[in-house]
Amino acid sequence: MSDNPVWSYSAVLMGSPVLLKLFSPNPALASRVFSLIKKYEDLFTVNRTPSQVMDINLAAGRHPVHVSRPVYELIKCARDASVWPNSTFNLAIGPLVKLWRIGFQGDRVPAASDIAARLRITRPQDVVLDDVAGTVFLAQPGMEIDLGAIAKGFIADRVRDDLHQQGVSEALINLGGNVQTLGTPHGAWTIGVKKPFAGADALVGTIDVVNKSVVTSGTYERYFEQDGKRWHHILDPRTGYPLENELDSVAVISSDSLDGDIWTTLLFGMGVEQGCAALRQREDIDAIFVTKNRDIILSSQRQFRFTQTDDSYRVTDCTA
Ligand code: ADP
Ligand code: MG
Repeated sequence: MSDNPVWSYSAVLMGSPVLLKLFSPNPALASRVFSLIKKYEDLFTVNRTPSQVMDINLAAGRHPVHVSRPVYELIKCARDASVWPNSTFNLAIGPLVKLWRIGFQGDRVPAASDIAARLRITRPQDVVLDDVAGTVFLAQPGMEIDLGAIAKGFIADRVRDDLHQQGVSEALINLGGNVQTLGTPHGAWTIGVKKPFAGADALVGTIDVVNKSVVTSGTYERYFEQDGKRWHHILDPRTGYPLENELDSVAVISSDSLDGDIWTTLLFGMGVEQGCAALRQREDIDAIFVTKNRDIILSSQRQFRFTQTDDSYRVTDCTA
């Protein structure tokens, strides 16, 4: 399809492979982008100190913590999405994430009593924000903010903005499943939709987008097996257990990768029927659902074109 060669630069950041694609060789720009990602990772991480989010968590139940603008804004946005009616997104899910340890050493199904105890300290309403002071206070001891579901989206958007400022008009950044694109090389960027629980390179189809983000979240990304069941890393804040429904994965197509990140988690909680209904109210968000029954359901397709590459799946849309 393309005559122009693509230059790819890669790194491992935020525990994920990071890929930057450019249309001219520019290692200095690649280093700049990777440093920017590292700078934000150091603000948001909850897996080591020091970080501003760790400072907030360590002061839980004791005192408010003043944080920098990007940290405050991201937490505010995450809190808003967490308190929407029936939201399955929850920025205060930290104590449960730490209890399950999914994707880390020692993952196993926790005792029901431990889950119940942690559920009591995951209320997003107990994340108290002060716009004027620029502080965040976790009202209950033991509370922990976890931005793992949205930090990559926020950072992908900042990389896009920085590339624009640097005069780059065509590029792609992939932050371990969060893809953000600039421009229209040869018509569109083509992004693969992974086949769940298959080889790393197996796809069910491809998505063509222009100036859009594509965020994929799947139960196959991080999970462990116990008692003949798969336990994956997207937790239901209402029960404390992994979200259970007909879905294997959701891809969200939107302008901002931050919205894509929030909506993959929301749609995971809603499932296909409710998800399709919710997307009818949101012209700016599109999605592709992939189910355990090998159905692929497309929303309005305003912002993407889908091409099926695996005919063991059946493709329908939200109106079917
Ligand atoms: P990935 O890391 O594969 O991109 P996601 O973007 O779906 O996955 O984010 C999953 C991470 O988000 C988990 O590892 C955990 O840190 C956090 N998390 C899990 N459940 C929730 C939830 N219901 N709301 C917000 N964050 C969550
Ligand atoms: Mg996410």
